[in-house]
Amino acid sequence: MTSLSTRERAQLLADSIAGKFPDARGRFGPYGGRYVPETLIPAIERLEAGLRVHLGAPDFQRELADELRNWVGRPTALTHARRLGARWGADVWLKREDLAHTGAHKINNAIGQALLAKRLGARRVVAETGAGQHGVASAAACARVGLPCTVYMGAVDMERQAPNVGRMRLLGAEVVPVTEGDKTLRAAVDEALRDWVADPLETYYLLGSAIGPHPYPYLVRELQMVIGREARAQMLEQAGGLPDALVACVGGGSNAIGIFKPFIADPSVTILGIEAGGRGAGLGENSATLALGRPGVLQGAYSVLLQDEHGQIQETHSVSAGLDYPGVGPEHALLQAAGRVSYEMASDDDALAAVKECCEAEGILPAIESAHALAGARRWAAAHPGKRILIGLSGRGDKDMPTLQRTLIAQLEARAQGARS
Ligand SMILES: *Cc1c(COP(=O)(O)O)cnc(C)c1O
Repeated sequence: MTSLSTRERAQLLADSIAGKFPDARGRFGPYGGRYVPETLIPAIERLEAGLRVHLGAPDFQRELADELRNWVGRPTALTHARRLGARWGADVWLKREDLAHTGAHKINNAIGQALLAKRLGARRVVAETGAGQHGVASAAACARVGLPCTVYMGAVDMERQAPNVGRMRLLGAEVVPVTEGDKTLRAAVDEALRDWVADPLETYYLLGSAIGPHPYPYLVRELQMVIGREARAQMLEQAGGLPDALVACVGGGSNAIGIFKPFIADPSVTILGIEAGGRGAGLGENSATLALGRPGVLQGAYSVLLQDEHGQIQETHSVSAGLDYPGVGPEHALLQAAGRVSYEMASDDDALAAVKECCEAEGILPAIESAHALAGARRWAAAHPGKRILIGLSGRGDKDMPTLQRTLIAQLEARAQGARS
């Protein structure tokens, strides 16, 4: 979208702030929309009509607020990270989604959609999962509202994320291995869509990020905006003002859009989305969709994606499973085109170093996904000394113990052994 003029960019931003996106066609400016087979249209239109009736309705909002408070554990804390700030030469604040039930922001979306599924009269829920975090959140939310849940998961991912498969089964979900395609998240989304088409009246598809065909990017954003609304009020109260910079990690983009959106209209707030830079900028070495990708259609929406010169979707890599996806939500593509949000990368190594630093300085073990935001914020702080920074800490790192054991902890143990001998 580099071809946009300054005026066109300003118009996109003004329309975004005015709440014009998504428009009637489900578009965020040039992005978004609905690129799905004809067979899916009735199901999607039913969902959209259902949203119009229920999402803003006072009794739905009351029920959702009650679950968020008493089951998810909201509002989550805003923590003044004083020792991290002293190291960086900045005033650092962490929005603690790691404290939410099941350990990350994903539950905000899962419980919202599960409640919606009930209202729409669904008899069962299907979901996809990559690393298993959205699967666990969906299984928990479905148990809470009393709906059976089927989770599609790539066979490769099931092997890599065995503990989450166990958690989903404990929570009563049926986990179905997907052996088609790349046997990971992308194939799992396709399978879940196929299941939904087969029975769109009785089945509800609970999508896990701000991606996919309209109205999902909108629905997920609305459900995740609770993060940014809380954070904005907490910053004003606890920090005495808005942040100079706001930073969050971006996979599909749900935690980021949720925390960004309530700050978009504040021109004094610099906003940074941090993608997985992996091992480098080479083909297949990262998952930095907006930093390195090009426009195209993936899984129901026109957005930006990682593709080779023939338009083939690229293999991706990231040390954090939750960021390892070749696409990104269409509203982020818009915010990049409008020049409102900058999308940058943090490498695997930067993220792992940030995990360790956050543990040591603050006594918080962040998810490796969230550590990408920490690494990006640290870099911004170095270039802008003395500023106030708000970081979206999307989840906790307990789920990452197998990866951390192989990397950071192995290094620590080797060092300790070296010291002893
Ligand atoms: C899944 C996940 C992400 C990435 O998903 P988004 O939709 O980009 O937010 C980030 N952080 C954590 C902890 C996750 O589990």
